[in-house]
Amino acid sequence: MEKPEKSTILPDDEYLTNEELRTLWDVLSQQLEEILSESRENIESFTEQRELDADQLDLAVTESNRDFALRLADRERRLLRKIKRAMERVQNGEYGTCQSCGAAITFPRLMARPVATQCIDCKTEMEQLERPKRIFAS
Ligand SMILES: [Zn+2]
Repeated sequence: MEKPEKSTILPDDEYLTNEELRTLWDVLSQQLEEILSESRENIESFTEQRELDADQLDLAVTESNRDFALRLADRERRLLRKIKRAMERVQNGEYGTCQSCGAAITFPRLMARPVATQCIDCKTEMEQLERPKRIFAS
């Protein structure tokens, strides 16, 4: 039995129009820019903190701020990577298609989460699979 074409499974309007794609590209660009400027601010405040540290600032406070800055930087790096990948997918025409099942990811979902790589069904399924399992419990 032949597999039906995608277009017969889903109505055409579920796929992104060029206009929607442009809107999402703008959202991604904006997020990229925001993260980059936030990172710069963090690095600057971190640097300031180190200078204050030399002037006998409460070390504990400085340390926790530093940890916070590092954690934030890590989170930003991950998001940055996701955004860059999403932009690559826009460029090679894969954006807006679920990487698990090939179905269209809807425009509202992408507006809410522009870095989404899966449709809501696959995402939900994945989250259920990712839940802690009791396989290793005796
Ligand atoms: Zn899917």
